Amino acid sequence: MSNVYARSADSPPRAVRARGSLIWDETGRRYLDGSGGAIVVGVGHGATEVTDAIAAQLASVGYVHGSQFTTEAVDSYAADLATVLPMKDARIYPVSGGSEAVETALKLARSYHLARGEDRPVVIARTGSYHGNSRGALAVSGRPSLREPYTPWLSGTRFVAAAYEYRCPFPQAHPDGCAAEHARRLADTIDRCGANRVAAFIAEPIGGATTGACVPTPDYWPRMARVCRERGVLLIADEVMTGFGRTGRWFGCDHFGLRPDIMTLGKGAASGYWPLGLVACTGTVHDAQPANRFVHGFTYSHHPAGAAAGHAVLRLLRGILGGVAAKGDRLATALSAGLADHPHVGDVRGIGLLQAIELVADRSSASPFPRRRRVLEQVTRVAADDGMVVYGSTGCANGADGDLVLLGPPLVTTQDQLDTMAAKTIRAI
Ligand code: PMP
Repeated sequence: MSNVYARSADSPPRAVRARGSLIWDETGRRYLDGSGGAIVVGVGHGATEVTDAIAAQLASVGYVHGSQFTTEAVDSYAADLATVLPMKDARIYPVSGGSEAVETALKLARSYHLARGEDRPVVIARTGSYHGNSRGALAVSGRPSLREPYTPWLSGTRFVAAAYEYRCPFPQAHPDGCAAEHARRLADTIDRCGANRVAAFIAEPIGGATTGACVPTPDYWPRMARVCRERGVLLIADEVMTGFGRTGRWFGCDHFGLRPDIMTLGKGAASGYWPLGLVACTGTVHDAQPANRFVHGFTYSHHPAGAAAGHAVLRLLRGILGGVAAKGDRLATALSAGLADHPHVGDVRGIGLLQAIELVADRSSASPFPRRRRVLEQVTRVAADDGMVVYGSTGCANGADGDLVLLGPPLVTTQDQLDTMAAKTIRAI
């Protein structure tokens, strides 16, 4: 917390300028931004299309409360965003960030069932997951080390195993793959809660920061979605990290033909230029809410400048998205080749410009480093000294502590910059 309250010798460097995929600090040192902050910046730093749109919006209508006025900014952004979302008739609720989006989604799911005369107190989530820091979002987050101090507040969630090929939780299900086993366990978990007791299953379509870019097998999502649908359990796809082109398609759901009932969005939505999060739901979920029943809202929900920022980002992404998959392949190939023989690299995985390197103490047993080794701190520091920002996460998809080096650079990063990022990351590791 030292960097929040007072500057000290341990504070991170002070950023003074950022353009594209580059950041400069006050000493003039230049960094390649391999992580877009917390995997946020999609359209690159210094995008004047976005800053101009925000400035113009603030100059016309800076703020109105969503319960009293709508604005052209929100209306036109919501209509345009709906055209790229995986659900056909998406209804959109803008908020100020990912945790707010998750809180809103959970309440929306509960309120949907209540309106239909069903109580459904339980939500199912996955081990190792992260869905936000507020109380409701933390309640559905599966990392024990984040939950531990607050457990008395975090009831009402059951957890199933994450889709995690590197340390597959169901090795006995191979060689046919474990998607069927995941689906069977989800069905069991729902059924053991009792008929009509589970409101929603929340998961990232592709695992993000605390699980490390885990891409499930192709039949995982069709099977999981079927289990939910057959039991009236709403599927909440958390795309706060994977949305807006990060994985090479608009949304992680798009890789699997997944059509969730509710989606949560954030981070790349406004690329860091405004604190924007969004919830999208189907017309069915929306229309089931009786008028005035979904009592919810934040002071800054439906902020017009957030909508202007989001809309400007969406327009830019239309011209950027097509190149992301190939850039991701190039980065992944360079990382895999450079780290293939490294004794402490257990796995290199990812999709698009979301790539993860899982570090292990011993490659043959895949055992993690003991916490006191703090290898992640060393890697991120050595990389920073070499002018490269990587994103370190001490998560693991099985819920234990691990060491993940994540790369999630701006989607506008050039091929040459990606090659340098890969080389610097490999060198640091
Ligand atoms: N869900 C996911 C998948 C996330 O990655 C995050 C942030 N890392 C959140 C929710 C919470 O978003 P925020 O930090 O904007 O509240």
